[in-house]
Amino acid sequence: MSAAVTAYLLLGSNLGDRAALLATAREQLAASAGEIVAASALYETAAWGREDQPAFLNQALALRTALPAQELLALCLATEQRAGRQRLERWGSRTLDVDILLYGHEIIDAPALTVPHPRLAERRFALVPLAEIGGAVLHPVLGLSVAELLENCPDPLPVHRLEM
Ligand code: ADP
Ligand code: MG
Repeated sequence: MSAAVTAYLLLGSNLGDRAALLATAREQLAASAGEIVAASALYETAAWGREDQPAFLNQALALRTALPAQELLALCLATEQRAGRQRLERWGSRTLDVDILLYGHEIIDAPALTVPHPRLAERRFALVPLAEIGGAVLHPVLGLSVAELLENCPDPLPVHRLEM
């Protein structure tokens, strides 16, 4: 068993009962991948990349996990599958997307896994929820904190916090 690390995940959904899909994803990840030690609010954002689709709900999680990054990715993808996700087109609508934003301070460049997530700094919908639970966390490649990345983020799409 490797030593535990804190990984930051981003959940996203823009099809079906989005909030319920995120809740089920949290339960499955907590049962299979580690302990969820922090969770952001839910945020709604117009779809990034392809704007002709329904708005997303997004949520960032901090997960304390003993799993190697590749095994964590496999569980993230299995959680997407259980939510009935179909991959039809790049950046298309999906019942559930689970991305690994950060995995401790590790830099990973493998065929199926890039960490930190390669588009993190360009995506306000990822940075806003991540900053809520990890604003001081350093991006190991860019050398800036999440809060600094958010200040510098050029993404114009507004991100609305949903009140519970
Ligand atoms: P996106 O999240 O960019 O819309 P997908 O969810 O369709 O794309 O993911 C496609 C593939 O991206 C996954 O099968 C996975 O192997 C790969 N991938 C690479 N890096 C990551 C990461 N940090 N988190 C999640 N998936 C990743
Ligand atoms: Mg994904």
